[in-house]
Amino acid sequence: MKKIAIVVPCYNEQEAIPYFYEEVTKISDSMKNVEFEYLFVNDGSKDDTLKVLKELSKKDSRVKYISFSRNFGKESAMYAGLKEANGDYIAIMDADLQDPPSLLPEMFEILETGEYDCVATRRVTRKGEPKIRSFFARLFYKIMNAISDTQVVDGARDFRFMTKQMVNAILEISEYNRFSKGIFGFVGFNTKWLEYENIERVAGKTKWSFWKLFLYSLEGFTAFSTKPLILSTIVGIIFCFAAFIMVIVIICKTFIFGDPVGGWPSLACIILFVGGIQLFCTGIIGQYLAKTYIEVKHRPIYIIKEKNFED
Ligand code: UDP
Ligand code: MG
Repeated sequence: MKKIAIVVPCYNEQEAIPYFYEEVTKISDSMKNVEFEYLFVNDGSKDDTLKVLKELSKKDSRVKYISFSRNFGKESAMYAGLKEANGDYIAIMDADLQDPPSLLPEMFEILETGEYDCVATRRVTRKGEPKIRSFFARLFYKIMNAISDTQVVDGARDFRFMTKQMVNAILEISEYNRFSKGIFGFVGFNTKWLEYENIERVAGKTKWSFWKLFLYSLEGFTAFSTKPLILSTIVGIIFCFAAFIMVIVIICKTFIFGDPVGGWPSLACIILFVGGIQLFCTGIIGQYLAKTYIEVKHRPIYIIKEKNFED
């Protein structure tokens, strides 16, 4: 009998978890000859998420949970979940039912054929999301795919169904600055994409502010591309070239018109502009240096405070 483990990162999801459990259980009960395991990762929730999980696990022995010592972020929660989950196939799902459990049987069938190692999902619409957020999201995917060798699919969700083999490959990538959308692409394997329309969360609130998403997108750029570093070289070359032309123009002007050199306001502008560009480029280098600094410290990606199962 095959076993499916479902990893669910949860941060302040006390309202959503009961709905999630109910919906997924309907699906798992309808699938014969398959064993299920739910692995909830409580990512340092400040509400009663842990209490809800404890009650569920008393009711249903398939419910396992891990609880972090503080909030480490969804990336860390997914990593911990993948590491601790135990199944032939492992799925990652959000607790808010934005990832439809009704796709699970189809995903399972697809992997059972042996043709694919992973079934991934992407939403083709962004209905119910602020326009400005959709605009920046699209822009992010455009830039990301232009500057990175690793493909990141527009609208890709973290909702995935994978073989143990692929999960092991993902676990090999144990970097601290995690950007899973890139890591999934990086490890390769045959992936089948399923598409669906955006679904709004069943209860509770989104945990992502615009600012958090913006920082997360920078994470993606620095984690999967070093092209921004080349930018400073290119800008430097362009500026040297412009300076060279200006020198020639000024020399010719002086010879032909005998112009005394005037115009300190323009000079001040140029100094400010070039100074700005220099700081911008130093900032980019600083970003990579900072990431390297964090990475070499080898701090743990997550810290477990308690869990309801043995290894
Ligand atoms: N999440 C988490 N840690 C965090 C933030 C979010 O584990 O620090 C979980 C959250 O509980 C949910 C999933 O990640 O199950 C997706 O979060 P959310 O629904 O808020 O994001 P959105 O769907 O709005 O992008
Ligand atoms: Mg959500």
